[in-house]
Amino acid sequence: MKAVVYRGINDLQVASVPEPSLDDPNDVIIRVSLTSICASDLHIRDSGLHEPGKIIGHEYCGVVEEAGQQVRGFRKGDRVVGKPFANCGYCFYCQHGQPELCEVGILFGVKGGQGVQAEYARIPWADNTLKKIPDSLTFEDAIFAGDILSTGLTGVLRGKVTYGGTVAVFGAGPVGLCAVALSNLFGASKVIAVDRLDYRLAVASSFGAITVCAAKEDPVQAILSLTEGRGVDVGIEAAGLEATFNSCLHSVRRGGRLSVVGFFSDPTYLNISERFFDVFNLTIGLGDSSHMEELLNLIAGGKLDVKKLITHTFSLEDAMQGYDVFERKLDKCIKVILKP
Ligand code: NAD
Ligand code: ZN
Ligand code: ZN
Repeated sequence: MKAVVYRGINDLQVASVPEPSLDDPNDVIIRVSLTSICASDLHIRDSGLHEPGKIIGHEYCGVVEEAGQQVRGFRKGDRVVGKPFANCGYCFYCQHGQPELCEVGILFGVKGGQGVQAEYARIPWADNTLKKIPDSLTFEDAIFAGDILSTGLTGVLRGKVTYGGTVAVFGAGPVGLCAVALSNLFGASKVIAVDRLDYRLAVASSFGAITVCAAKEDPVQAILSLTEGRGVDVGIEAAGLEATFNSCLHSVRRGGRLSVVGFFSDPTYLNISERFFDVFNLTIGLGDSSHMEELLNLIAGGKLDVKKLITHTFSLEDAMQGYDVFERKLDKCIKVILKP
């Protein structure tokens, strides 16, 4: 089958690889219908966070081709979307509500975990990893539930966005835009989106955000003046850069909360003493994908629609062209879908 293979730092290639097979009775094999490119794939490629020869990619939806004997929830023909990681369900972390930290789990397309930018993928512990796509939804409607919507929701939940509160989202890329849409759904009174690219801010605005262009004005000053000089209740950092982290930090009010979901390739300095007396809450980390079903229900219920983030579609064969458009943000690109 065809797949996007990591060959070494800064080196991806579409190649022919063997098709996966069931390795364990809890596995499912899916025929991948859509898979998308994520900013994290670029970090993984450039930081050498994978094993040469392995497939990259962790955003996917598809159709069950074959289910192992112990899989209860899925059978051939089911349309599914999945988490970016697979977890066992039994270890300390799985039992303590932190499946993304599973002791024996894998992250698809990272650190040797086989990825999903391929025609077929093996999904370990399928009962934990997959959700059925409601009949009324297309694959395009559902694909983002696994990663970018779940990560946007993680920003909102760990930041404790509240009804009537104020939020600033730094980075109006796919993850930040999902956080904007969800913050509004949670009833925030003001959602401020910060980016340097006007075309992305226009999409944030279509999701109900007030927008601040960091290329034209100081975002901290803009946010302070939108919040009576106090700063927002919640900052969501969805860019993974020292500059956005610092601006986000300085845009959150005393007693506020900062939820970091951006992935930082470079070491980033935090001066704790600067905010110590502010009783400040900071959370960091991998997205929590345990709310995929609720996200799918919101999409099916017409409350949440992020398929307009899909700006480009390429065949899997042309994946490298897709990576180029995505990385260079050509042609107002937000999200690139690959169709095997
Ligand atoms: P992205 O790169 O498209 O989004 C980042 C946005 O930040 C871009 O729109 C960019 O224009 C903007 N930006 C850059 N410099 C800026 C500045 N100085 N001020 C304001 N905005 C600026 O990526 P994405 O797909 O939205 O992902 C965002 C981050 O989240 C990435 O670091 C990604 O790796 C990470 N991520 C984390 C998880 C997780 O599990 N925590 C999951 C998915 C993605
Ligand atoms: Zn991703
Ligand atoms: Zn586990």
